[in-house]
Amino acid sequence: MTVAAILKDKGRDTYSVPPTTTLAEICRLLADRRIGAAMITNESGSLVGIVSERDIIRAVASDTAAALGAEASRYMTSMVVTCTEDCTVGQVMARMTAGNFRHVPVLRDGRIVGMISNRDLVRHRLAQVESEAEELRTYIATS
Ligand code: AMP
Repeated sequence: MTVAAILKDKGRDTYSVPPTTTLAEICRLLADRRIGAAMITNESGSLVGIVSERDIIRAVASDTAAALGAEASRYMTSMVVTCTEDCTVGQVMARMTAGNFRHVPVLRDGRIVGMISNRDLVRHRLAQVESEAEELRTYIATS
């Protein structure tokens, strides 16, 4: 199974904001959209960072609630690990595990075309396990 197949199921909605967006504004975006991370893009739409709920918690823990008024550029992770649509689920899982994060933006020719979260991967794995179990049940019932 590839990233393209997962995006086909879940859709290609992505949420990106400029580096000048405050953490408070990002909190609102994450809460409204029920997502865990926002991508940070420059004027030409290129990915320049990511801010996840963990960055916001870390920012408030170290700089108090005043951090919510600061710009994303101050707290974002700039070295973003990405994938492409032809990556396999296994490759994306390996990247998340190695980097200890739960979000991987999907790029095509350097442009953002989707976002894969660990929730998407769990959902996909669950569907796969259910389908394997159903196949086994059918096999047992018919043999
Ligand atoms: P998460 O588990 O996705 O909430 O993120 C945990 C930490 O990893 C945060 O500091 C994020 O900014 C960072 N992070 C999230 N996704 C990525 C990614 N794809 N590449 C690099 N860092 C990331």
